[in-house]
Amino acid sequence: SEKEPARITAFSETVRRTLRAPITFRDREIFLTGSIGLLLGENSNEPQRAEEVLKDAELAMYHAKRGGGDRIDVFKAAMRARKTDRLSLESDLRRALEREEISILYQPIIRLEDRAIAGFEALARWNHPKLGRMSPVEFINIAEETGLIVELGLFVLDRAARQLSTWQRTVRQRDPLFCSVNVSSRQLLRHDLIQDVRTVLARSPLNRGSLKLEITESVVMENPEHAAQMLHRIRELGAGLALDDFGTGYSSLSYLQRFPFDTIKIDQSFVRTTSKGTRPVILRSIITLAHDLGMDVVAEGAESDSDAVELSQLGCEYAQGFVFGEPMTAERARALLEPDAAPARHQETGVRTKVF
Ligand code: C2E
Ligand code: MG
Ligand code: MG
Repeated sequence: SEKEPARITAFSETVRRTLRAPITFRDREIFLTGSIGLLLGENSNEPQRAEEVLKDAELAMYHAKRGGGDRIDVFKAAMRARKTDRLSLESDLRRALEREEISILYQPIIRLEDRAIAGFEALARWNHPKLGRMSPVEFINIAEETGLIVELGLFVLDRAARQLSTWQRTVRQRDPLFCSVNVSSRQLLRHDLIQDVRTVLARSPLNRGSLKLEITESVVMENPEHAAQMLHRIRELGAGLALDDFGTGYSSLSYLQRFPFDTIKIDQSFVRTTSKGTRPVILRSIITLAHDLGMDVVAEGAESDSDAVELSQLGCEYAQGFVFGEPMTAERARALLEPDAAPARHQETGVRTKVF
């Protein structure tokens, strides 16, 4: 084993650079970056326990990640202060639900055929009293690790179902509107998710399959057997199932066919054009295969009109992305659904608002 700090640093630098080298996959270049945390024992004489050493190195790694990634940070005692930040974030999050600091935004999912709103994805937001708006990427992780995700997940599911039920009853639509809600790994592993879905569906009358649970392939692959059982039961209860961020993991659609998904959401990295200005070839294949397996396709991250046009030409039926609207409050979503009833203050680009 290596004990010389200079050599350890140099080695980490080599690892970092090696990771950065682009990988060519079909006509795409994939870039991976690493965040490395180091603990150099040079200035401590007291022996440390292995777990403590690892924890400190991990703190340094998180510091590197927060610094934008693709970097190496060496542990400093001051980094421990951020750990208390993390602890206080945990207890803040615990209180956030009671204090109604968590809200839900709805991002439109557009039917490309007529560019009308077909549904929404519910996305959680935390308005922290001191830190302001926090992105879910920051707090969902904490919620997962502390188990708070169970309560938070049920909150989002219930809210979204109530909202959808109101819209289905009061807004005239060609097809019933749908709404999808993200479900995390820890929620899917708990058996109570079934009971939660049952309770929520009993409380809000909804068209069958219109409340969809979004689950990423990595979550499914964590425990495929258990996931398959859970998903079949959820489906029987009348909820829909969407496979989120498809293409970011290693699993194949034909394998995922064993799970009762009705929709796949293609990850945004496959949807946008590559550096050469072309769409990934694999996009067409994913859409075709999904259709062969009887699934609807939603393309995530459509940012330009040409994204929308080409997706439609490729046979993709739905798209979601900034070109059609960012995640918005229920009020604004409602205004978009019925522009005549309550004119939206901001005009959305690209969405044809009136269907009837
Ligand atoms: P996701 O489920 O894949 O959600 C889509 C994310 O892409 C959202 O980020 C959305 O704002 C963003 N997005 C939409 N259109 C575009 C676009 O055109 N370009 C780009 N660059 N981004 C776009 P957001 O809201 O920050 O959520 C991030 C992730 O956090 C979600 O990814 C989801 O995994 C998780 N998340 C959000 N809300 C919840 C929740 O209630 N429960 C759980 N378990 N996870 C949630
Ligand atoms: Mg999602
Ligand atoms: Mg997604």
